[in-house]
Amino acid sequence: MHGTMQDWPLLVWKLIDHAALYHGDREVVALTCEGDEVRSNWRTIRDRARQVAAALRRLGIAPGDRVATLAWNTHRHVESWYGISGMGGVAHTINPRLFDDQIVYIANHAEDRVLFFDLTFVPLVERLTPRLTSIEHFVLLTDRAHMPASSLDLLCYEELLAAESADTPWTTVDENAPAGLCYTSGTTGNPKGVQYSHRSNVLHAMAAAATDTFGMSAQTVVFPVVPMYHANAWSIPYVAALTGAKLVLAGPNFDPPTIQRMIVAEGADLALAVPTIWLGLLQHLEKHGGGLGRLNRTAIGGSAVPRALIEQFAAHGVTVLQLWGMTEMSPLGTVGTPCARVAALPLDGQIDYRTKQGRATFGVEMKIVGDDGGELPRDGKAFGRLLVKGPWIVGSYFKGDGGQVTDAEGWFDTGDVATIDAGGYMQIVDRSKDVIKSGGEWISSIDLENAAVGAPGVAEAAVIGVPHPKWDERPLLLVRAKDGATVTKAGVLDYLSDKIAKWWLPDDVLIVDELPHTATGKLLKTALREKYKDYRLPTA
Ligand code: ADP
Repeated sequence: MHGTMQDWPLLVWKLIDHAALYHGDREVVALTCEGDEVRSNWRTIRDRARQVAAALRRLGIAPGDRVATLAWNTHRHVESWYGISGMGGVAHTINPRLFDDQIVYIANHAEDRVLFFDLTFVPLVERLTPRLTSIEHFVLLTDRAHMPASSLDLLCYEELLAAESADTPWTTVDENAPAGLCYTSGTTGNPKGVQYSHRSNVLHAMAAAATDTFGMSAQTVVFPVVPMYHANAWSIPYVAALTGAKLVLAGPNFDPPTIQRMIVAEGADLALAVPTIWLGLLQHLEKHGGGLGRLNRTAIGGSAVPRALIEQFAAHGVTVLQLWGMTEMSPLGTVGTPCARVAALPLDGQIDYRTKQGRATFGVEMKIVGDDGGELPRDGKAFGRLLVKGPWIVGSYFKGDGGQVTDAEGWFDTGDVATIDAGGYMQIVDRSKDVIKSGGEWISSIDLENAAVGAPGVAEAAVIGVPHPKWDERPLLLVRAKDGATVTKAGVLDYLSDKIAKWWLPDDVLIVDELPHTATGKLLKTALREKYKDYRLPTA
C-alpha cells in the first residue's frame, strides 16, 4: 500500500513560532545604539516580527521582494529579519563595513525596496541615497523620541509596529523560496549574492544545533559576537529560536570590555567570533584581569585559529571549537568537535586536532582534488582544492552572476586548499590565492601566521609571497606588536626557528603599526600583495 508523510514546508517562521510557544519567556537581551539594554524574550520577538510582516505588506511589499538591513545585532534586527522572511520577503543583510561603492552596488543589484537601518548609519544612508536606485522606504530602527532631523523621508520602526496587530498570519511560501540574501565581501571583482532559501536555513539550523556542532539546547546562553550581516551571524539567531536558547546581542559594541561584561553578566556559556575579536579579549584579560563567568566554549571561525589562542582559552577553562565555512555555505562546513578517539588523547594531542578545521557536519559532503580534478587520498598529507556539496551550499549566485559555479556533478569549489585525514579531519593549508609558491613547493601562509602570533609581544601577523629571482616567491612576514611591547626581526625569526621547516622561514620580517582587514575582519592579503609587490627581499 502507498503511504506518504505529510508535506510540512521548512519555513523560517516556524522556528520563531516554535520558540514563542515552547520557550516564550526565554530572554533575548540586546544593547542598542541608543545606549539602552533591552530585555526581550522569544514571545515578544515573535509578536513584533509579525507586526513587521504586517507593516511590510502595508507598504506594498510582496513575497520575493528584497528588504535590506544595515544594522547591528539587536532585538530589532532579529525581529526585522524574521518579519521580512515571514511575509515571504528576502532579508538582505548589508555589511556596513563595505566601501560606499560596494554598498551602493549591492543595494542596487539586489533591487532592495525597503531599507531598515540603525541610528549609527544615518550619515551613511544620507550620503548614499542619491545613488540608491530602488529603495522606496527608509525605516529607522528606533522609537519616536530618537528620530533625528534628516534630509531623508524616514519612517519610524516603533511607530510602524504600533500600528499593526501581532495576530497577523505569516505567509506560506514554497520551502525553496528565498528567505535571505548575503553578498560575499568581493575581495576579487564585484561582490556576489548568495540567496538562502527557507529550506536551506532550517536544515542548516537543525544541523548547527546538534551536539557535535554547536551543541545548543534550551539551557544554553549563546552570545554571537559575529554580526548578523556576516553569514547570518553563523545562523545563531535561527539556532537559538529552534533550541530555545537565551540570546545575547551586543549591538554596535565589539570592544573587549563590553564583550567581557556581557559574557559575565548574562551568563553566556557559548560565544562565537572571528579570531581577531578573541585575541583582543584575551589581551584585555591579560592586562586588566577578571574572568569569563560561565563561559565554557568559544566557537571560532572565519580565519584559522592559532594554537596560542586555544591554549590561552584552555587556561581560562574554555574549550575552543574551530569552525570552517563561508558565506556560500550558510556558513557551516566543518566543526572541530572531538570524536571519541581524539577526546581520549592528552590535552596537547587534543589541541593538535583543535587547530584543524574539523569534520563535516551531516549535510556537507567534501573532497579534495588535484590539478587534474582527480580525488586525492584522505591521508592527512595530500593536499588539493577543497570541493563541497550539500543542501545549504550555493548552487548559483544571485541573478546568475559568475555563471555556472558547480561542476557537472554539483561540486562547488571553495577556493581553499586542504588536507583530509583518515578520521575525516580537514585542515586548511591556505586559500588557493594566498599560498606561497617557492621553488615549485608550497608554503602555507596560514601556518606561518599561526606560528608567528605565538612569538612574545606579537599581536597579529600576516604572511604574503613576494617575488624572488631564484625561488619565484618567498615569504615576507608582517607583524603588529601588542601595545607597549617591543618586537624585533631577530627575535621573531629566532622564535620561529624550531617551529617550522627551515626553508619556510620568512626572508624578511617587517614590524608595522597596522594590518589591513576585509569587511569581515580578515587580513586583506590583496592589499598587502599590492603594497609590497615591488618589495626587495634582502635575500633577492
Ligand atoms: P569572505 O566574504 O571573506 O569570503 P567568508 O566568511 O565567506 O567571507 O570567508 C570564507 C573563507 O574564510 C573560507 O573559504 C576560508 O578561506 C576562510 N575560513 C573560514 N573559516 C576558516 C578557518 N576556521 N580556518 C581557515 N580559514 C577559514
